[in-house]
Parts: sequence; C-alpha cells; structure tokens
Amino acid sequence: MAPTEHDHGAGVRTLRPVTEVEASPAEPVLEWDTPLFLMARAQYEQALPHADVSELVAERLSFPERAVIVSVPLRRDDGSVGIFPGYRVQHSTVLGPTKGGIRYDSEVSLGECAALATWMTWKCALLRLPYGGAKGGVRCDPRDLSPRELERLTRRFTSELVREIGPQTDIPAPDMATNEQTMAWMMDTYSMQRGHAVPEIVTGKPISIGGSVFRREATGAGVVMVAEQACRRLGYDLEGRSCVVQGFGNVGGVAASELHERGARVVAVADVSGGVHDERGLDVPALHAYVDEHGSLAGYDLCERITNEQLLELECDVLVLAAREDQLTEANADRVRTSLIVEGANGPTTIAADEIFAARGIPVVPDILANAGGVTVSYFEWVQDLGRLFWDRDEIRQRLSDKMSTAFDRVYSVAEDKGITLRQAALVAAIQEVAGALEARGIYP
Ligand code: NAD
Repeated sequence: MAPTEHDHGAGVRTLRPVTEVEASPAEPVLEWDTPLFLMARAQYEQALPHADVSELVAERLSFPERAVIVSVPLRRDDGSVGIFPGYRVQHSTVLGPTKGGIRYDSEVSLGECAALATWMTWKCALLRLPYGGAKGGVRCDPRDLSPRELERLTRRFTSELVREIGPQTDIPAPDMATNEQTMAWMMDTYSMQRGHAVPEIVTGKPISIGGSVFRREATGAGVVMVAEQACRRLGYDLEGRSCVVQGFGNVGGVAASELHERGARVVAVADVSGGVHDERGLDVPALHAYVDEHGSLAGYDLCERITNEQLLELECDVLVLAAREDQLTEANADRVRTSLIVEGANGPTTIAADEIFAARGIPVVPDILANAGGVTVSYFEWVQDLGRLFWDRDEIRQRLSDKMSTAFDRVYSVAEDKGITLRQAALVAAIQEVAGALEARGIYP
C-alpha cells in the first residue's frame, strides 16, 4: 500500500503512512514500520497533544532522519565466509550529533533500530544533552561467534559505517552483547583509518584509551538517584524502605548496591536464574561475591528462593525493573504491590500495564528518565575526550546527580501541571526540547 501525502496548508506536503497500515503492522509502508517502531510512534502521538508543538515540527520528528543498511562479510575461524546484515539509524540531528548503542542480537532490524533511536532522542533531550538519538547493530547470534570472530565482525562493521559515524556526526556506545572491548575495537578501527587516535568516536571505552571513570556504574547509580527523589515526593525517605530489584547485571547489580549503601532494605533480587528473598534485607555484597564466583544467582541457598513472577508481586515500597522489556503487563499489573516503580531497563512496562498503574495510583518513573544516567556519563566521557582533560569520580558523580535531579523536577512539574503520568510528562518535556530547537532552526532549505 502506498504512503499518502497530506496537505498541511501553505503548500506543505509531507509523506505520511496511511492510518489503516499503522493499525496493521503486517503491511508496512515504510521499511522501519515494524511493531516496535509503531509502538514508539504511538507513545509519541499520545504525548503530542500535551506538547503544544506545530504540526510541521510534529510531523518531522515522527520519522528518523537517516538509516543505512550494510552487509558485513565475516571470515569465520573455519575459513568459511558468512554475510551479516548491519544497521544504523539516526533519528534526529537537530540538537547535535546522534548518540546511541550498537547491539549484536538475532532480532536486530531496521524497525528495532528506528524505535530505539527515537527513544534515544527523547532521553538525550530530556537530560539536555546536545545530542539526537541513534541505534545500530548487526543481526547475528553473538553466542555463536568466537572472540576472534567478534573482533573481525566489529572491525568490518565499523569500516562499513565509516561514512556515517564520527565524533561530530554520530557517536556509538555499547548495548546488548557489546562491551568495552567492542568499543576499543571500534575506536582502533576508526583511528587507523584516520591516521591518529580518535577516542571521542565512541563512549563506554576502557579507561586506558579515554573511557570515563564511573561510566560502568552510571546507569544503576542514576536509577537510585531518581528513586530517592521520587520517594521524597511521595513523602518518605528511601532509608529503611523495602526495595525489590529485578535483574542483577550492570544496571540492577549497581542499583542494588547503591540502595543497600543508602540504608534501604533490599528484600529481593533476581537474575535470569530466579530470585532470592529475605524480608530482613539481603546481604547485597555477599550476593555480588557469589555471582562473581559462580556467574549467576543459581544455587545461592542462604535465603528463600523465589521465581521471577513471585518477585514482581512481592509487597514493597520500591520496585526497580532492571532486566528486560515486557515484564509488567496486563497479565500481572493488578497483582503488583508496590508504592513506586522505577524503570532501569528499557521498555519493561507495556502500554496496557501503564494504564492499570495510572488507575491504581502507582507512579512509574519511566525509562527515558530513570536509566538516562548511562548516556549522561557517556556525554561526560565525550566532553572529556574532546577536551583531553579528565575529571575525577566525585566530580562526575556530582554532575550526574545535578542533571538527573533537574530532569526529574522538570518531569514532575510537567506531570502536575498537565495532570498526566510521569511517562507522558517525560515525553512531553523531551519533545518540547527538540521541537523548540527545530522551530528556531527551521526546515532546510
Ligand atoms: P546485563 O546483561 O548486565 O544484566 C541483565 C540482568 O537481567 C542479568 O542479571 C540477567 O540475568 C537478568 N535477566 C535477564 N532476563 C531476566 C528475566 N527474565 N528475569 C529476571 N532477570 C533477568 O544488562 P544491563 O546492562 O544491566 O541492562 C539491563 C536493562 O537496562 C536493559 O533493558 C538495557 O537496555 C537497560 N539499560 C542499560 C544501560 C547500561 O548502561 N547498561 C543503560 C540504559 C538502559
């Protein structure tokens, strides 16, 4: 089915997919119109009526600016060659270069990258970082690739993207199945092609090549900073409160430690192997020591074992979601017994569950605010690399705390003024930020 053209008056005609197709993802009209991208756009369209932006600007921001698809040849360890599709989507360059992760996963597609790039635009704008959103990746099963194969894949993918990425155009970072080592390979490949070291091409690098202290802890620490502020708004202190954390990796593991250090009672945590529960409060450092030794929480038997489903339904003051998407849904939202939900993961609450929590009066601190600590310290890393001047841990932590706190207050006041949820308010605040810049710059030419 072909896209339709809408006339906005004054001779402005824009490309717009037809409405029936939006309701039926089986018939995409533009290549990125997959269910996930349509969900990102549905959230955007729900927030738009509260954002008070011109129709022209609203229309422009509903599409990514640019997308590339590459095919990446990989010489396998056995001598054969496999070809893997790779993607990079840049959603908006209105506020500055684009920024976003690179993931290696069998689900990577143009639509997934387009949705995640769009969310990155809102996240960066909400934190007032001078970036737009991007996302990219290679469709592959990373567990099927040896370390040498991952290195070759990363270096060739970086070479394929050399015209798209750059310290002033698009700055990648780690995401699912990519890490500091992947970023080091990307930085080295890009630098070799330029003829000199370019640390500012990626963030999330090892500290030895221009990475930032506190980057690894930044997302989990930021989650707890906003949780603390949200508790204060609800009229209590985080100290002594019961907290449940789903996910015990980079985000959840750090969040559990930060909660523990601030005197909160972490009563349950879980990873993919299941959960552990103790109403008196878990010994979080002992859990970390166990996971460091055994790889996961499996087999830890010094307290009650529970399933992930049970964990999400425990009675608690704060529920931190730091595992993956689609955890609170229409199926369990009625049974959740917490006063506050904080989204460390991306997309853990479905639109239907959101409506149930709004009706039940349970606030949800949304992902684009709660987990923005990671991209914020990535921004600090880029600034330090460009200036060739490095800050210490205390300075970074303080700057992160200031940014998270300002963004939280802004979201809270938009929610109160307009009588909308924190998620809608976060989107409204972010859209207004980008729209203001686009209004000022105008549509070129
Ligand atoms: P990670 O791989 O380090 O940790 C994920 C954790 O979740 C692991 O403990 C894993 O065992 C657990 N898990 C997976 N499936 C689960 C399930 N069904 N039930 C319970 N636990 C499960 O990943 P991470 O970096 O901590 O990322 C977690 C989430 O946070 C993702 O949604 C990611 O996109 C988001 N996020 C991460 C960052 C960052 O800086 N790392 C920044 C922003 C958002």
